[in-house]
Amino acid sequence: MTKYDIVIVGAGPIGSYTAYLLADKGFDVCLLDEKTEIGKDVICAGVIGKEAFKRFDLPTKSILSRIDSATFLSPTKTKLEYKPEEVFAYIVDREKFDRGILKSAQRVGVDLHLKQRVTAIEKKSSRYYTIITSKRKYKTRIIVLATGINYALNKKAGLGKPSHFLYGSQIELPISFSKSNIEIHIGTGFAPGSFGWVIPAGANTSRIGILLNRKTKPWLKKMLEHRLNISVAKLRDEELKTKPIAFGPVKRSVKNNILAVGEAAGQMKTTTGGGIFFGLICSEIAVEKITDTLRDGASLSDYETTWHSVLASEIDIGMVMRKIAAKLSDEDLENLFRFVKKNRFWVNFLMPRINFDYQSNVIYFCIKSFGSLLKLE
Ligand SMILES: Cc1cc2nc3c(=O)[nH]c(=O)nc-3n(C[C@H](O)[C@H](O)[C@H](O)COP(=O)(O)OP(=O)(O)OC[C@H]3O[C@@H](n4cnc5c(N)ncnc54)[C@H](O)[C@@H]3O)c2cc1C
Repeated sequence: MTKYDIVIVGAGPIGSYTAYLLADKGFDVCLLDEKTEIGKDVICAGVIGKEAFKRFDLPTKSILSRIDSATFLSPTKTKLEYKPEEVFAYIVDREKFDRGILKSAQRVGVDLHLKQRVTAIEKKSSRYYTIITSKRKYKTRIIVLATGINYALNKKAGLGKPSHFLYGSQIELPISFSKSNIEIHIGTGFAPGSFGWVIPAGANTSRIGILLNRKTKPWLKKMLEHRLNISVAKLRDEELKTKPIAFGPVKRSVKNNILAVGEAAGQMKTTTGGGIFFGLICSEIAVEKITDTLRDGASLSDYETTWHSVLASEIDIGMVMRKIAAKLSDEDLENLFRFVKKNRFWVNFLMPRINFDYQSNVIYFCIKSFGSLLKLE
């Protein structure tokens, strides 16, 4: 049985990125995934902020569209434009994105084993864990769980799962709405308490989706048919893809020498359901802590407090925002749109303060400023 410093379970973007950083530091890293092909059939809108591409070593070849504006549309399609005059986000092809990160990991020596579904973890010696798959066993000093929304191993390791989930539904259609603009559709008729999106994914393709706290397919059909005038009669049900999204952190993200990262730890934006940026930040934190553990014998336990200190306010504010949004009627939403449109001051004031990845300050400010308008107090 080969012995590794670290075995990472899950070769999604966060598992592969963690593997890449660790192998780059000289550790023996093994990356396991149950899939035959990485990046195939991933359900994702693929929106990643420009900052993520600046800060992390990400595959630029995966970029399909560059986003320089967003239009928010009220229930009656009153528009509010966000136009920062430069590209602020990219839309990626997740297959190329995930494979690109994986290639970087393999280039620095990560040992990739596909078709390996991890079913159990054992600790029989004080130094090594044994990881058991349907086909073989691996020995490792540290285990990183990057298993996305599969929480079976989290449970076995005593890390638990998020208490709540959102649901994302999306379809990719050969229609072009815009080359570089994202549309955010708001209205209780198709996305109660939440929003729907229309996103350009290359020259003649759009991703249309919604994020809800309930099963989403019927609502996506409502958005397509009634909001966008796209007939659903000819669409096959399998074309509308649905997946749960972790809403909030897991109970514990580290225990002994096992830690969870990415969606496996619930490191997700509670506002938009995006997970890649927060996952990558936590991947860096995990790598720092693992390095201290393997080189200096430090405990891994402060991984949790460190990532919480960076992301807790972002995660909490999204939860507050969703609670408020759930109470708003279409009339409340129209009033809000009308108010902001009439008072250009707010648009000019808020625009430069919007940060695609860190939204808590602006959301907190808006709740305080517009709370009375929405009768929140
Ligand atoms: C509709 C929708 C739209 C989204 N849009 C965006 C967006 O625009 N931007 C954004 O940032 N995020 C978005 N997300 C979220 C994003 O897709 C996830 O946050 C991201 O994929 C999480 O990456 P990960 O590496 O943590 O997990 P995953 O990508 O889920 O990878 C987990 C891997 O672990 C493997 N695995 C699981 N269990 C085992 C096991 N026992 N043994 C072996 N292998 C295992 C799986 O095969 C998989 O390859 C969206 C999600 C949905 C549903």
